[in-house]
Amino acid sequence: MDKEQRKHATSMAKQDVLDRIHNFYEVALGYTQEQAMAEAERCLQCPNPRCVQGCPVDIDIPAFIKEIKEGNFLAASAKIKEKNSLPAVCGRVCPQENQCQKMCVIGKMGDPISIGRLERFASDYERKMGVNIPDKDVAPVTGKVAIVGSGPAGLTVAADLVKLGHEVAMFESLHLAGGVLMYGIPEFRLPKEIVQAEVEYIKKLGVDVKTNYTIGRIFTIDELFADGFDAIFVGSGAGLPRFMGIPGENLGGVYSANEFLIRVNLMKGYLFPEYDTPIRIGKNVAVIGGGNVAMDSARCSLRLGAEKVYIVYRRSREELPAREEEAENAEEEGIIFRLLNNPTKFVGDESGWVSGMECIKMELGEPDASGRRRPVPVEGSEFMMDIDTAIIAIGQTPNPLIQRTTEGLETTKWGTIVVNEETGAATKEGVYAGGDVVSGAATVISAMGAGKKAAKGIHEYIKKKKGGK
Ligand code: FAD
Ligand code: SF4
Repeated sequence: MDKEQRKHATSMAKQDVLDRIHNFYEVALGYTQEQAMAEAERCLQCPNPRCVQGCPVDIDIPAFIKEIKEGNFLAASAKIKEKNSLPAVCGRVCPQENQCQKMCVIGKMGDPISIGRLERFASDYERKMGVNIPDKDVAPVTGKVAIVGSGPAGLTVAADLVKLGHEVAMFESLHLAGGVLMYGIPEFRLPKEIVQAEVEYIKKLGVDVKTNYTIGRIFTIDELFADGFDAIFVGSGAGLPRFMGIPGENLGGVYSANEFLIRVNLMKGYLFPEYDTPIRIGKNVAVIGGGNVAMDSARCSLRLGAEKVYIVYRRSREELPAREEEAENAEEEGIIFRLLNNPTKFVGDESGWVSGMECIKMELGEPDASGRRRPVPVEGSEFMMDIDTAIIAIGQTPNPLIQRTTEGLETTKWGTIVVNEETGAATKEGVYAGGDVVSGAATVISAMGAGKKAAKGIHEYIKKKKGGK
């Protein structure tokens, strides 16, 4: 392969935009075998691979890419699974552009290697072949661990601990395991069948997944200890929606993104009346926020039949926190971006339904604590938008149930659990935590990275507790 060829990434097919805005099927279609091998061919197999430094779960990236290049697709998947138990999920939703791919040396002269697409290809290949690689040498059971929450953090801790020989029970309050992967991210970005296949893999490793168990209600953390668990990992996420606190937020037709996406995804509102979840979407929908949650809400609204869907975001395109790929997909689909605008109030009609949203124009001032330029209102620039549905997607905080029902668990003023960053140990003996409940709303791979650290921390703790065995 010459230098010029190496510069360009192999493109991946997508569903045609005019079709996909009317359905919930997956937008990105994945690589064919030939495309995957061609992309793998571009990798330089660096002796000191910078891409691995950018991977929070430390996947041996050049090694799995080499297997793909040589046509050993199952071996590629096995290599990834040494470090990552959710590869089909990560290959689809991880912000690789800010992690492994950002570090890839080829990025200096052209497009970085499409590591995420290759990861997706290998894991999809394995799933289609019906081969789920079982773990061979599981050590004898040493400890008994409870995991609270079955999102990416909990699933990672669970998989790593069973592989280390512990008995693991996972408690999930919803009826299906997967956390945000099931209830938040829509089908057209992450098919639920794929999430469940990865949950099945973790069950096959030996994790006992118990759904419909809300810890803090059915059992408290202390009751779990009394029941014989040696350690408990809290991965309860950040599922509590934030609101803006502006007039009219309680009007009909104003949703939190959480409620909206749960109804659409987990309760299959998009398949109404086949599924019994009616969801009323108007003609003119405003989604407030600029992250992945906002993009997902906007794109779901469009697919549910809205005529005009606006993203209303108080900063500029440059600061948009959503993945670039998803913002581009949203634009392609016809979502209208109203940037540097911020809502100030909602107004309603005589039946109490939202009929308009007053906004104010913003400009960017000096950088704030996050390093991004602070949005400042432009005095006297208020204007009205005609809308009949609003979806608020300005962030989430942790649900306080575990924190409130557990003595000795230190939390921050944002309700996140305080932990030792290296081990994931919380301030109460035997309790560990990680993922969004510690960091606040973040990413799948950062939750998994925290899960890996906590699994090591728990393993060491149990070994010590049991006298170093
Ligand atoms: P979660 O995934 O939130 O899982 C926590 C689980 O704990 C939930 O299933 C919850 O029901 C359960 N639980 C809570 N309390 C209890 C209790 N008391 N007892 C038992 N169970 C409990 N990240 C990306 O990297 N890429 C993306 O494209 C992306 N898109 C997103 C789109 C949306 C709509 C949302 C909401 C988030 C998105 N994220 C994305 C963020 C990512 O999904 C989260 O950072 C990640 O899921 C956090 O994992 P977690 O395991 O900490 O928590
Ligand atoms: Fe391959 Fe890029 Fe990693 Fe080097 S940095 S091994 S080229 S993916």
